[in-house]
Amino acid sequence: VADNFYRDNKDLKFIMESMMDWEPIIALKENIGEEECPYDNWEEAMASYLDLLEDPVGELAANRIAPRAAEVDEVGCKLVDGEVIYPDPLKRTLKELSDAQLMGMTIPREFGGLGMPETVYTAAIEIVAQADASLMNIFGLQGGIAETINEFASEALKAHYLPLMSSGEYTGAMALTEPDAGSDLAAVQCRAELEPGEDPDTGRWRINGTKRFITNGCGHVILVLARSEDPTKRGGGRGLSFFLVEKSERVTVRRIENKLGIHGSPTCELYFDNAPGYLIGKRGMGLARYTAWLMLAARLAVGAQAQGISQAALEEAEKYAKEREQFGHPISDFPQVRQMLTRMRLQTEAARAMLYAASQVVDLQQGYDKRGDSVNMKKWKQVADAMTPIAKYVTTETANQVCYESIQIHGGNGFMKEYPVERLYRDARITNIYEGTSQIQVSWAISRLVRGDLDVVLDIEAARVPKDPELAALHGQVREMDARLREALAFLKEQPVEYRELVARETTDFFLGVFVSYVFLRQAEKWAYKKDVAQAYIRYIRPQTELNASRVRNAQLMVLAP
Ligand SMILES: Cc1cc2nc3c(=O)[nH]c(=O)nc-3n(C[C@H](O)[C@H](O)[C@H](O)COP(=O)(O)OP(=O)(O)OC[C@H]3O[C@@H](n4cnc5c(N)ncnc54)[C@H](O)[C@@H]3O)c2cc1C
Repeated sequence: VADNFYRDNKDLKFIMESMMDWEPIIALKENIGEEECPYDNWEEAMASYLDLLEDPVGELAANRIAPRAAEVDEVGCKLVDGEVIYPDPLKRTLKELSDAQLMGMTIPREFGGLGMPETVYTAAIEIVAQADASLMNIFGLQGGIAETINEFASEALKAHYLPLMSSGEYTGAMALTEPDAGSDLAAVQCRAELEPGEDPDTGRWRINGTKRFITNGCGHVILVLARSEDPTKRGGGRGLSFFLVEKSERVTVRRIENKLGIHGSPTCELYFDNAPGYLIGKRGMGLARYTAWLMLAARLAVGAQAQGISQAALEEAEKYAKEREQFGHPISDFPQVRQMLTRMRLQTEAARAMLYAASQVVDLQQGYDKRGDSVNMKKWKQVADAMTPIAKYVTTETANQVCYESIQIHGGNGFMKEYPVERLYRDARITNIYEGTSQIQVSWAISRLVRGDLDVVLDIEAARVPKDPELAALHGQVREMDARLREALAFLKEQPVEYRELVARETTDFFLGVFVSYVFLRQAEKWAYKKDVAQAYIRYIRPQTELNASRVRNAQLMVLAP
């Protein structure tokens, strides 16, 4: 069993230490050379970020959080007299995370946070989720909520709420979903009315209505999407604004859901009864701008949650397959079991490659934004907007597949609560539903792929031919797949939207196969083990590329009715 979830995760450590392009990220993020900056150069900043991942994050995850996960799952959250009660081991964990200053990881230092880049936070969420996936819904949600406040709220709101979130005294929630507004958030009905005589930008509004399925709805700071404009004049998504509502007697948790997994995370139905709220950003931009921005961070967080689950399920399967003997051999000796293990590892590492490629781009986008470089900001925003849904899609679908196979490798034991994989399987199931289902992610992805938003990324990879002749030969194979992908995208450009939607998943998979192959080849230049990974992955992905190329061109919408 790993005793540090960062140090013992060789792939994550390798990506953090050797694959991330830290120099530009740090140059944009930190004011190196200025008094308030704690670092003298980018190497020192990077070393400090990675130290944090090892200790306290990796240490706490392995030795405190993971041993409590089964009890958190078993006890779950309770609603008593309108108050949500967390399980005791979860309370202890939150105290430890707060004491280690980890609840404000991405909050700027001026507000008491650690001011970490998005990539470091993504890695921390992966590590924490490997220990207990449900904890991500408090720990990983905190950053998205706080970053949205930091980016768009008034100075007064920032100064009041961010220090309380940094210390862990306050946690957050994001209240978008309603009974009749799920994937289609433009249908939100919750209302916001300005109090008479108040200034719309800085004054007090009153929020009324019901929100459903709100993770940590008992949190102190709730970001609410509500209808502020007259529907006859400004209907649909354009009539929605974003509000900060503080927990009070005017916000009732009416019920918490009884659910399949993530039992350490309370999923609340909230009723707002004239609850005071303050506008975040501009009126009418609630959905298009602020929800979209929050969801970018939240997608990475859920992707990291799923990645942690995959890692946990993979490690459990590898351990079990070595220990369990049948027919006089460890089951890992059997070709079918070995094949399953290999596929799980490939899928887990492929998903991770995509996740951190996306988080790096989000850091670049945010960095250029901070520096007021709108040209570069727009360039990377376009890439980030396309990459994050793909990363969310692949990490979450992978977690489900890896958990499925991990149970298979455990045989009957995998079905039993005595083995952690039973919980992992249940926890994984929500990841490809919330923060936008996989169908919604690939729908976003295909519109951007067809528009050519990720051509720049493929072009950069295609031009980087490895020096090693074996890797260069593999690179040639990937370039052929890349050419097939571009042909498919050109074909789709001429098709109606309905047709594209039909093949959104295959097209996203097609892109993933090509892009991840390129990334694995880059990794192989720095770590010999990755040469085997790249070879195995390309061998595995090539026939699928053929299949995807054919499916993209020959899809047919069929309704089968006996
Ligand atoms: C445990 C849990 C925690 C949650 N936490 C939060 C939270 O903190 N805050 C919050 O606001 N919400 C939260 N949600 C809500 C979650 O984001 C929604 O459940 C999710 O977005 C899907 O919406 P829905 O359930 O209404 O499904 P629907 O939108 O009704 O979708 C049903 C099915 O139709 C498909 N579908 C819908 N539209 C399309 C389309 N255009 N193209 C293709 N397929 C489509 C979907 O992919 C899905 O398969 C949470 C949900 C759960 C279960």
